[in-house]
Amino acid sequence: MATFYDAIIIGTGQAGPALADRLSRAGMKVAVVERGLVGGTCVNTGCTPTKTMVASAYAAHLARRAADFGLALEAPVRVDLKRVKARKDAVSGASRRSVEQWLQTMPNCTYFHGSARFRSPQEVSVDTNVLAAPKIFVNVGARPRVPVLPGLDQVSYLTSSSLLDLDFLPPHLLVVGGSYVGLEFGQMFRRFGSEVTIIEMGPRLLSREDEDVSTTIQEILEGEGIHLRTNAECISAARQGNQIDLGLNCRTGAPSASGTHLLLAVGRTPNTDDLGLEDAGVARDKHGYIIVDDQLRTNVPGIWALGDCNGKGAFTHTSYNDFEIVAANLLDHESRRVSDRIQAYALYIDPPLGRAGLTDTQVRATGKPVLVAKRPMTRVARAVEKGETQGFMKVVVDRESKQILGAAILGTGGDEAIHSILDVMYAKAPYTVLQRAMHIHPTVSELIPTMLQDLKPLGKS
Ligand SMILES: Cc1cc2nc3c(=O)[nH]c(=O)nc-3n(C[C@H](O)[C@H](O)[C@H](O)COP(=O)(O)OP(=O)(O)OC[C@H]3O[C@@H](n4cnc5c(N)ncnc54)[C@H](O)[C@@H]3O)c2cc1C
Repeated sequence: MATFYDAIIIGTGQAGPALADRLSRAGMKVAVVERGLVGGTCVNTGCTPTKTMVASAYAAHLARRAADFGLALEAPVRVDLKRVKARKDAVSGASRRSVEQWLQTMPNCTYFHGSARFRSPQEVSVDTNVLAAPKIFVNVGARPRVPVLPGLDQVSYLTSSSLLDLDFLPPHLLVVGGSYVGLEFGQMFRRFGSEVTIIEMGPRLLSREDEDVSTTIQEILEGEGIHLRTNAECISAARQGNQIDLGLNCRTGAPSASGTHLLLAVGRTPNTDDLGLEDAGVARDKHGYIIVDDQLRTNVPGIWALGDCNGKGAFTHTSYNDFEIVAANLLDHESRRVSDRIQAYALYIDPPLGRAGLTDTQVRATGKPVLVAKRPMTRVARAVEKGETQGFMKVVVDRESKQILGAAILGTGGDEAIHSILDVMYAKAPYTVLQRAMHIHPTVSELIPTMLQDLKPLGKS
């Protein structure tokens, strides 16, 4: 016998709990199902724990630079990973408990702990319970992808989740994957005191970013003593005593790299394979992402997919924005769409990269005549005062409409400063609005209007 609800939400990531709150406050009887830890990836194994640890790594880095700021430390900096982990667990645990409490206090909401599986378009089983509802929202997220590599079954490896459980320092961490997760962990563990080698299959780090962004990040990481290997086209693994040997087959450099621990950071797989989607008739693409339209509806009426599992975003803010779109359309009679949002994200190495809108390559593909301005962080007073002058900021503008098409701030405070550009983009205002704004001194943001006085055609320096 099924128990009937107005809505079932599968997964408590960044969209599920917020949606449960809106629906239950609108008077709907809601069931929420979670098989793992409440709060999902961001809270437990993603943003919150990693950025908490990035803060520890930054503190260690600054302490090592004490002399640059006129301070004398009596002893060399030593990182106690047990305490770093305890701090991370406390921050992440508090965040999880607050989501748990939120769910417990929602009116009309029943929480089920277990794995949900579709039985039909309107029915879901959770262990021995059968739940039925005319509206079902899937927010099941994704997990670390484990690639097929020769010899991988002979060695033990870490993922972005299991690495967070380490309470000791790996002497030499090999990181396979030179993208966001690999670089954040790579720099973090280097600053904790590990030897780090980052191995990337492509010709450069962060292949989706502009070349100047990739190159500068490479210089920053190499400057901290991280070994980088690109063009590692055929990676294989083997155990040699206590060491892990990776065969790389790179075009340049040694044909292998050895370390004590191995982190696989090569992307994520959506948690859609054991959800019984075939029994509900819900279509997935060849990578396993649930196919949705611009309003996050699947091909089956009454079923929506939100967050990482729909392939329309891979961030906390995209998942939360999915919730806002679905809630506004269902409850507020609006017509919000995924295509209304502007791509934006940050990479939390130090200094961070804040990104908004199109990259240079995407801009070129539009064929529009554009103007570009760029300014090194050495010419940003705030960065000089803080002794953090690595990186640059740049912006690309449509020459005819004067609207900003894209921007990158790789530098201290870049993750925050990018928002003044992003908001002007959302306002669809010409760049001149930002150019004439009076910003506060001394900030990184104050140089954005100044940079905009320097616009030149793309391709000319
Ligand atoms: C190391 C790392 C760092 C990151 N850092 C950032 C960052 O700095 N900024 C940022 O914006 N994003 C970051 N992300 C990405 C971010 O964590 C995710 O995009 C975000 O959590 C959105 O996820 P979601 O809402 O799709 O679902 P998730 O948070 O993944 O939650 C899905 C939930 O569904 C549950 N579930 C799955 N299947 C079932 C089932 N059958 N039945 C019941 N429950 C089920 C899972 O247990 C999980 O709790 C990071 C990710 C990683 C891995």
